[in-house]
Amino acid sequence: MKNPDFDFMKLIEITCKDFGITTDEFFTKFRYGNLPLARQVVCYLMKRNGYKNYEIAYILQIKPSSVSKNIQSVSILMNKRQRLEKELDTLLSSIVRRRDLKYGCITCGRALIYETATAGHFMKRANRCTRWSVVNVNAQCWNCNSEDDYKKYYDAMIRRYGKEITHRIILLGNQECKYSLNDLREIHDQLIQIKNQL
Ligand SMILES: [Zn+2]
Repeated sequence: MKNPDFDFMKLIEITCKDFGITTDEFFTKFRYGNLPLARQVVCYLMKRNGYKNYEIAYILQIKPSSVSKNIQSVSILMNKRQRLEKELDTLLSSIVRRRDLKYGCITCGRALIYETATAGHFMKRANRCTRWSVVNVNAQCWNCNSEDDYKKYYDAMIRRYGKEITHRIILLGNQECKYSLNDLREIHDQLIQIKNQL
């Protein structure tokens, strides 16, 4: 099913702008610089929005076999990213649950054991700038985590970290972070270091 709100010319314009190429260059047969990557991204997103391979090939004036190759390249990259992000989530969760055993649940103070403690995000998990922050994520009992009470968590953050750090986290959590695979690898290395120091 095609997404009726999807405008492929807009997508091509945005992608070209992002990769520093012109739309005229995009529709050539050239393969220098970011051109192949830009075409891969456009093919992948058109497919995701319901276009068939032969339609994409016709619109972009490339061979259908190139369309499937382009889509596959992005899928592999996406899988790599998803795997890495999941690994970061697991790593972070294990760090904060181990670290916070001595404090108990950040919200209600209940004693925790490693196996049943949960890693609770103060700024929501969807906020990527704070998703893997060891300050933003703290051990919680299952009850408090599922209750998901921002005000209670805010008060708890102030108690544990003070106003300045808490407000810095809120600011950071409202920004938009785009992480490259390398950025994610760097976060991974930092978390490993923290884990080794526990
Ligand atoms: Zn609790």
